[in-house]
Amino acid sequence: MSESVSLSLRDVHLAFGHHRVLRGVDLDVAQGATACVIGPSGSGKSTLLRTVNRLLEPDRGDVLLDGRSVLGDDPDALRQRIGMVFQQFNLFPHMSVLRNITLALRRIRKLGEDEAAALAREHLDRVGLAAKADARPAHLSGGQQQRVAIARALAMQPQVMLFDEATSALDPELVKGVLALMADLSSQGMTMVVVTHEMGFAREVADTVAFMDAGVVLEAGEPAAIFESAQHPRLRRFLSQVL
Ligand code: ADP
Ligand code: MG
Repeated sequence: MSESVSLSLRDVHLAFGHHRVLRGVDLDVAQGATACVIGPSGSGKSTLLRTVNRLLEPDRGDVLLDGRSVLGDDPDALRQRIGMVFQQFNLFPHMSVLRNITLALRRIRKLGEDEAAALAREHLDRVGLAAKADARPAHLSGGQQQRVAIARALAMQPQVMLFDEATSALDPELVKGVLALMADLSSQGMTMVVVTHEMGFAREVADTVAFMDAGVVLEAGEPAAIFESAQHPRLRRFLSQVL
């Protein structure tokens, strides 16, 4: 794994037209720490993650890795440092699992075929899917496909990993395996931001839980502080609905 880094958002604003979706987001994730972002649908969680890896540009504010602004960086170079995993796995259906992983290694990291394949196999092994290298994604379960997507992101040796509801599209019996993999990664010291509805995961794995509502982080703290002594009435209401 590449050396992980700290991640900070400072007063991040972003609007789609007149719709102000992020209204001054502040978030700090220490090096090697895991932040879980919880909150109602439409509160801006996905927009926030997309702003971190510059799929979207903030109107105002700053995104920092190890204390240094990344907003002037080349977006492609930045995306090599920040891996992202989506609810829909976004694997290429016509390619083998192995090719899904080697593609970016060859095109973006410019590795040779053998080197890319070796790295891909190493990461498939890490997510427990070494035997599936030659399979097409459609022949894998949703949980296995998501683990391939995670292996694909990890093979780029990112310094930060972002997860956007990575288990929300999975059948219930497949959720555990993916969460266990994410917990593993967290315990190995990857800096992670995890948008999730899995409150058990947030409670057990997160170093920080941030509650987003209407485009701001309304309250953030250690899991115990959030789940047992939430201050903000909106957070208390949210938790009473999801727990
Ligand atoms: P969450 O992930 O918390 O459910 P999102 O970040 O997806 O929330 O969306 C926040 C708000 O921004 C929603 O009202 C959504 O409709 C709006 N939104 C998201 N992406 C776009 C876009 N590309 N164009 C216009 N509005 C968007
Ligand atoms: Mg979302």
